[in-house]
Amino acid sequence: MKCQGKRVNKPKNRVVLRGKNMTSKSLDKVLQKQRVAFNAAPNPAWGERKSKLIKLGKIIADNEQKFKEVISKDFGNRSFVETTMAELSIVQAGIKHALKHTYKWMRTKKAPTALQFKPAKNVIVPQPLGVVGIISPWNYPLQLAVMPLVGAIGAGNRVMLKPSEYTPRVSKLLKSVLGEVFSDDEVYVATGDVDVAQAFSALPFDHLLFTGSTNVGRIVACAAAQNLTPVTLELGGKSPVIIDDGANMKLTIARIANGKLINAGQTCVAPDYLLMPEDKIDGVAHSLIEQAETFYPTFAGNPDYTSIIADAHYARLQGLLEDAQTKGASIRVAGNDDSQRMAKERRIPLTVVTNTTPEMKIMQEEIFGPLLPIVASETLADSMDYIQKRDRPLALYWFGEDNAKRDYVLANTISGGVSINETAWHVVQEDIPFGGVGPSGMGGYHGEHGFKTFSHMKGVFLQSKFSGGKMLYPPYTDKTRKVLNMMRKFM
Ligand code: NAD
Repeated sequence: MKCQGKRVNKPKNRVVLRGKNMTSKSLDKVLQKQRVAFNAAPNPAWGERKSKLIKLGKIIADNEQKFKEVISKDFGNRSFVETTMAELSIVQAGIKHALKHTYKWMRTKKAPTALQFKPAKNVIVPQPLGVVGIISPWNYPLQLAVMPLVGAIGAGNRVMLKPSEYTPRVSKLLKSVLGEVFSDDEVYVATGDVDVAQAFSALPFDHLLFTGSTNVGRIVACAAAQNLTPVTLELGGKSPVIIDDGANMKLTIARIANGKLINAGQTCVAPDYLLMPEDKIDGVAHSLIEQAETFYPTFAGNPDYTSIIADAHYARLQGLLEDAQTKGASIRVAGNDDSQRMAKERRIPLTVVTNTTPEMKIMQEEIFGPLLPIVASETLADSMDYIQKRDRPLALYWFGEDNAKRDYVLANTISGGVSINETAWHVVQEDIPFGGVGPSGMGGYHGEHGFKTFSHMKGVFLQSKFSGGKMLYPPYTDKTRKVLNMMRKFM
């Protein structure tokens, strides 16, 4: 079976390369080295895992300033506050949580045994999988590389990591700091372009966690399938926001604008579009623009506002706007910044798009930038219908006070996760799983869910000396049939 895919709307310099090359040989060598090391000690004790997690937390803490600087350089600009909030603090909270709970998660757990099998016992033994591959994207280049690493290390695995080529300074720093505290057979960082990523995804890992776009996710899943490598896919999609009549609009507008504008909309769970009745659209669009201007009195040169990662992404976002305008959309742009300076800094202010139609590209592909279309939807049932007819989103947001309506939305939509009266914050809750569903992903991680993702939960049946199983041995007689019939009553 051929496993090739086409990247859609991606820069030309990132075409998929095909075929094996030296990269795959050298990566394979690292994998073999990790596998040998794993097989020599396949069940690291809590003390060893703990010491690795502590080393990971410390080396990142020691290099906080460097991470803030390189992330900002790779983006063109990213506020240090935003990096602290959305990367460093999340990573440290994830490590702290793992340090507090992994010991408990690692324990063999008793499981019930059906009456007909008693006095035998059942247990579930969590086991490391072996060598885990992690492919991470550029938008939160530290968080999305390290959070899966925390889960994989806590679960006792060896790890190979391929960070994004769009954030080369971050990838280089990750390689150097992780190299300081881990040997290559513990944690290895493979830097490089798409050809490296492609060779990486073809390795026969024991598990592969990919975070990135749905298009590339398809290619990666296909490559992993050749080795029957199980995958966790953390993908993207269009995350809708529904605003109910009873919503507190002051809070709602601020929370939507914040969720949309952090990292300039380059967030997998950023609100992608809003659904609301036609007569509310103007007022909401106006308030959103006002809110954006309060957050960012200027966009150009403002150290708080993040640049778009690369020229190709900037051009893609401008293309979405042009396409929408050509097809009849109205555009409202926050601020009054010099457009040439904005283009030079690769910045785009909040841009609210109204009079949208499904034919517009902005209503078809994930936006991943500060453009916010609004779709007219008269009733909650219309909104459900709109969402249900489209790909299952990574996140869904509902603002309102009526719990019955909230529950109706929860029951009638399938999305990776949900925040109610908020945007994005469900992602950083360590005790709930983070992941998509269908085209927005498969599997999940964070906290115990990450531990389970990177563990084999091995079921073990412990038979007793006094088992009645011998009554079912051949030759089969009337007595066997009677015993079997009696046993079936307990099943
Ligand atoms: P991307 O899919 O272009 O790249 C992600 C990673 O895949 C990179 O490391 C890249 O090197 C690698 N890659 C690229 N081509 C490959 C190939 N042919 N084979 C194997 N690997 C390949 O995504 P991106 O542009 O870096 O990130 C943006 C996308 O990621 C958005 O769609 C966003 O929604 C999604 N995302 C999802 C989550 C989540 O947790 N669900 C988080 C962040 C971003």
